Amino acid sequence: MPFVEGLRCRECGRPYPAEALHVCEWCFGPLEVVYDYEAIRSSISRESIAAGPPSIWRYADLLPVRSEGAVNLGAGFTPLVRADRLAAELGLGELWIKNDTLNPTGSFKDRVVSVALTKAQELGFKVAACASTGNLANSVAAHAAHAGMESVVFIPADLEAGKVITTAVFGGRLIAVDGNYDDVNRLCAELAGQHPSWAFVNVNVRTYYAEGSKTLAFEVAEQLGWQVPDHVVVPVASGSQLTKVAKGFKELYSVGLLDAEPHVRISGAQAEGCSPVAQAFAAGRDAIKPVKPNTIAKSLAIGNPADGPYALEAVRDSGGSIGSVTDEEIIEGIRLLARSEGIFAETAGGVTIATLAKLAAAGVVRSDERVVAYVTGNGLKTIEAVAPHCGPTARIAPTLEAFAAAVDISEVG
Ligand SMILES: *Cc1c(COP(=O)(O)O)cnc(C)c1O
Ligand SMILES: [Zn+2]
Repeated sequence: MPFVEGLRCRECGRPYPAEALHVCEWCFGPLEVVYDYEAIRSSISRESIAAGPPSIWRYADLLPVRSEGAVNLGAGFTPLVRADRLAAELGLGELWIKNDTLNPTGSFKDRVVSVALTKAQELGFKVAACASTGNLANSVAAHAAHAGMESVVFIPADLEAGKVITTAVFGGRLIAVDGNYDDVNRLCAELAGQHPSWAFVNVNVRTYYAEGSKTLAFEVAEQLGWQVPDHVVVPVASGSQLTKVAKGFKELYSVGLLDAEPHVRISGAQAEGCSPVAQAFAAGRDAIKPVKPNTIAKSLAIGNPADGPYALEAVRDSGGSIGSVTDEEIIEGIRLLARSEGIFAETAGGVTIATLAKLAAAGVVRSDERVVAYVTGNGLKTIEAVAPHCGPTARIAPTLEAFAAAVDISEVG
């Protein structure tokens, strides 16, 4: 990682070495990676990126790790799908879906975990751990298995079966905690203190983990022919992803990959049952009031979001908004995306699409904008959400008569 200068406190600016550090010892602010953008600018080009692998590692120069020997299951470089049918339903013009359901373990978390575990190995850690709302545990268990690392992952005990089973299958230690994510996270902060030789991807190596989300911005710009969208809609749990998407677009300009300074409006999406950032936005507050989550969007159910204030700032600075949607609207969002575009998202994707619909109806997301919605997790992991609404059109005997009786073929065409 020739381009990393070190770490810096986001609040007071104090410098730190690029080690397993995540908070400032002076002011407890989060630490951020500092790069030498001038050096990157002279090393990187659109052509060098295009010649790279079809994964997040094509942007290795903008990541805080060495890419040789990366813990790599192929995260990233997911399709950017033009969504004309959905756009028409929502009264929008140019709409794209960043389909991050197609990552190795079915969520965008593979981007951050691939970076975090690569750094963990660089720093000599042998054990990968995390506090998770589901997808992170899934991804850490898979990447640890691939890297031959031990894993210990912690989840709230009430997660969907699709997330528990697809995590357990990788053979690490999966600990279901009686409590919500914020309880799990508190436990992991304590455990991280007790086990300094474990790499908790979202605690002691969080600074590096977070950088993986920038690739969501890099890929969209590259896939649009090195242009940025006018408006993006991003789901918010801890707020890390949204904050880093904002940083990603700016970095592309800093290293000379964009022709003009980007002005991307960034809007956030939350479930009403866990919307501390949306509430602060609506009230015009800077401080985030923690809430007790109660929503089917379990992957976004963080009541006390670590990066909430930074997400809020990124949204406000960009001229975006933050919306929230009910469980019913989330289910309708999943079904709308599926029937209009053929993409099956988990509940977090339902949050994004339903929020996009609301912001479009309110005129916040406009029909003259080029819009990208980030759909970050696969519907196969949360089939419970749509199961009551989805089943066979008919069950019939294997005869022409039975088919004719069951289906009005004049409607089929
Ligand atoms: C974790 C997660 C998010 C949001 O992540 P933050 O960076 O914590 O805001 C979004 N979508 C899905 C599917 C996730 O699992
Ligand atoms: Zn500080």
